[in-house]
Amino acid sequence: MNFDFGEREEAFRKEVRAWLETHLPEDLRGRAFAASRADVNEVRRLRAWQKTMHEAGYVGMDWPREFGGRGATLVEQIILFQEMARAESPQLVNRGGVSMLGPTLMKHGTPAQQKRFLRNILTADELWCQGFSEPNAGSDLANLQTRAVRNGDHFVVTGQKVWTSMAHVADWCFLLVRTDPAAPRHKGISFLLVDMRSPGIAIRPLRQITGEAEFNEVFFDGVRVPAENLVGRLHEGWAVAITTLAYERDLLTFIRHISLRNALHRLVRLVREQGKGGDRLVRQKIAELWIGERALELNGYRSLTRILRGGQPGPEGSTSKLFWSQLDQELALTATQVVGPYSQIAHGSAWAPDDGQWEFYELLARGSGIRAGTSEILRNILGERVLGLPKD
Ligand SMILES: Cc1cc2nc3c(=O)[nH]c(=O)nc-3n(C[C@H](O)[C@H](O)[C@H](O)COP(=O)(O)OP(=O)(O)OC[C@H]3O[C@@H](n4cnc5c(N)ncnc54)[C@H](O)[C@@H]3O)c2cc1C
Repeated sequence: MNFDFGEREEAFRKEVRAWLETHLPEDLRGRAFAASRADVNEVRRLRAWQKTMHEAGYVGMDWPREFGGRGATLVEQIILFQEMARAESPQLVNRGGVSMLGPTLMKHGTPAQQKRFLRNILTADELWCQGFSEPNAGSDLANLQTRAVRNGDHFVVTGQKVWTSMAHVADWCFLLVRTDPAAPRHKGISFLLVDMRSPGIAIRPLRQITGEAEFNEVFFDGVRVPAENLVGRLHEGWAVAITTLAYERDLLTFIRHISLRNALHRLVRLVREQGKGGDRLVRQKIAELWIGERALELNGYRSLTRILRGGQPGPEGSTSKLFWSQLDQELALTATQVVGPYSQIAHGSAWAPDDGQWEFYELLARGSGIRAGTSEILRNILGERVLGLPKD
């Protein structure tokens, strides 16, 4: 791999940098590493930002042109992420759509589904949420019990999902349901696209440790879903879900990396402001985080290369997610130690350093080792499917 940037790439960097400087709204700049998707107004602003980015051709740059992307090179994609981090831009609000469902539909969707859904994912005209986890199906996802029964040209869905991020603001949900209860666990599952405004859906917010309610319980009571919204074959949704999860752990981690880098830059600024740049322990820790961040980036390049060459993420993508979550938590802890007791003061108080973003970040980072597969599960995947160790 050669990551030296040529003239063409440097020209592209200049173009993106200038564009971000002009177009990134001031009220979103610097909210980069702890932007909330719980607040409806914030989501509206983030949505408008994604739309503006799309109009300029900066969303789904790596998607093939036939699907509304730009067919960009790996290097251009990387430069875009680097410049978003430099400008302290938030991540895309519809990232589940862009980096998980989009690639899944390109692989498993019908031409009609691709035509109907892909463009609105890029523009954020339709926000997506992920309806996988249930009260008794988190790590053990194949235990899911939400039922879908075929009735004429519809499926009728009944059951409950939990921890559904953004369900309260989403227009659509990609949902895993059980369509054949008699089949072995991994076999009778199907993958549906559900309009969140369908009658019979009730959404109940769950308050997180941060004090915000970004995720929800979602109840389905006889919800009718058109049969054409089935992705892949009936009862074979597990394979479709594996594609989605692989993208969540691999490509999405690369995108989350923007926030991590932002937070690191901000932490360095904080250390300087607090006059702690000469503290040897702090310097040591920052250097460790810096090296870790760089290693994560290089590992991300490896995955991106494979994906952009027409491959797809495999189980080894779990290393990125695992390593990212560890770094994220270490960074949050380091910031807390640097700031000291004031790090506990939340947004809204005049005493909160950096407007309380470090308090929020520390609490938010608790979930990093849980969402998109817990660290234990990712280690199991790496042990079994990458290293070939005996099954857990
Ligand atoms: C911030 C956040 C956002 C989320 N957003 C979404 C979303 O949008 N959509 C969605 O579908 N889900 C979402 N989730 C849910 C997430 O995918 C689950 O929380 C996760 O899969 C773990 O499932 P669980 O919570 O049921 O824990 P459990 O599976 O009950 O696990 C409990 C503990 O047991 C450990 N454990 C379980 N099995 C094993 C094993 N075989 N070996 C070793 N240890 C094991 C786990 O590592 C964990 O520590 C979100 C979670 C978080 C924290």
